[in-house]
This record gives sequence, structure tokens and C-alpha cells, in this order.
Amino acid sequence: MTVQDSLPTSPSRVVEIKNLHKSFGSNHVLRGIDFTVEQGEVVCVIGPSGSGKSTLLRCVNLLEMPQEGQVIVRGEDLTDPDCHLDAARQQIGMVFQQFNLFPHLSVLANCTVAQTTVLKRKASEADQIARANLARVGLNDKITAYPAQLSGGQQQRVAIARALSMDPALMLFDEPTSALDPELVGDVLTVMRKLALDGMTMLVVTHEMAFAREVADRVVFMDGGVIVEQGSPEDVIGNPTQERTQNFLRRVL
Ligand code: ADP
Ligand code: MG
Repeated sequence: MTVQDSLPTSPSRVVEIKNLHKSFGSNHVLRGIDFTVEQGEVVCVIGPSGSGKSTLLRCVNLLEMPQEGQVIVRGEDLTDPDCHLDAARQQIGMVFQQFNLFPHLSVLANCTVAQTTVLKRKASEADQIARANLARVGLNDKITAYPAQLSGGQQQRVAIARALSMDPALMLFDEPTSALDPELVGDVLTVMRKLALDGMTMLVVTHEMAFAREVADRVVFMDGGVIVEQGSPEDVIGNPTQERTQNFLRRVL
């Protein structure tokens, strides 16, 4: 272990999860999770349904409060009662399986509302930033549309542009393509691939093994609330050492 490793917070470390436990009643869902995400890293989390992937992601921005353990985001412990949680959360963008757009707001307004209300940006600045991010996801011709007028893939890309407009240090994606018709999955994955190439730090729960294999710097396989195996995509997806990982991959590949 080098001196750098032993420092409490390395400047390049965006997320550090230590001994995380989360229960819902008697259901012990996360059973001691430890992992980190470094600046610019793309980490894909895979695993069977019910293994705790969404709960883990929701613990990263403390949408779920863990019973035990620490969630440190850019050096700040979100589980510390003194932590200014709203400020800490502003650094984290989240994209859900169900896009969760505001149905009564235009595409542009979906991408400006939190900028003006939460970040107190001027309307003109928020507008400019929103337009730039909508262009980034290929939707600059849809800014006046309403969510219901868009395909699922377009709605999900708006959700990504909305999250990006808050300048997050970290993007969380929870199965962003699982609710989409198969022909719409590719466009969303293309946007995510581009984000990864741009250097965005990303934690992605996905069933898209080809995407994980190509884009992830690291793959984490979860089962039963623990990390069973993690490493490079070549190792974890291509040549898993654990039987539980092998069984899972046999079912999904
Ligand atoms: P995954 O995303 O891997 O499918 P989840 O994290 O959604 O798994 O769920 C893990 C377990 O936690 C499941 O047994 C689920 O029923 C339970 N769970 C998740 N969220 C809640 C909640 N809000 N209340 C009660 N139980 C929950
Ligand atoms: Mg889930």
C-alpha cells in the first residue's frame, strides 16, 4: 500500500463506499458493500434481479439511508449527520429506468427548471446550458416538444440532458434502457458511450452486457447483497472466476 492509498480521500476518488448495509424491515438487502469509483471511471454493476443493485445506487445519493457503513462522495461523508445533503446531492445526476420527466413541461423547461430553482442560475444561462446538453444527446430539434410527444428513447435522452445540465461530478444510471423498445436502446447507449469517452464518471446498472464489455473500465457483479466479483470486463464477463458469476452470465449471454 502506498502513501496515496492510505490517505482518507484521494482527490481522484469520486465515490467511496465502505461496509454498506441496508435492510428493509427484516430483509437484509445490502450485506457489506465496499467499492470505489475514480474520476473518469465507468463502472457497470451487473447481477440478478433482486440482488440489491438499485438499492446500492440509491444509497450513493442517499435516496435510501443505510443502517451501517459510509458513502463518501468527493471526500464528503453523506452518512454524517452534519453533512449538507442537498449540496452533496447536487453533484450527482441520476437517470432512472422510468424517465421521470415532468410531463407538463417542455423538453427545454425540463432541462432548465432545476438549474434556475436549485442552482439559481439566470434563465438565459440555464437556457444556453440546456440547449448545449440537448444538442449533446441529439435532441436540439425537440426543445419545444412535450415528453408525451417523444419516443421512450428520446425521453430517456432528455432525462440524460437534464441531469447533465446540473454539471454533475458523477452520473448514476439505473437500467436506463430496460423500459425501451429494442430498436430504441441503441440511441441511448450511443449517448452514454459518448459521455464515457468525454470522461464522465459513471456508475451504471445494466443488463446490456455488450455495452458493459465495451464501455466499462470495471464491472461489478452483485448477488444476494454482496459484491461477488469485480474487475475488468474481460475478466468478469469474459472469464469469471466465481461460480455465481458464471451461472448468471450463462443465463443472460
Ligand atoms: P435489483 O435492483 O438488483 O433488482 P433492488 O435493489 O431493487 O434489486 O431490490 C433488492 C431487494 O430489496 C428486493 O428484495 C426488494 O424487494 C427490496 N427492496 C427494494 N426497495 C425496497 C423498498 N423501498 N422497500 C422495501 N423493500 C425494498
Ligand atoms: Mg433494479
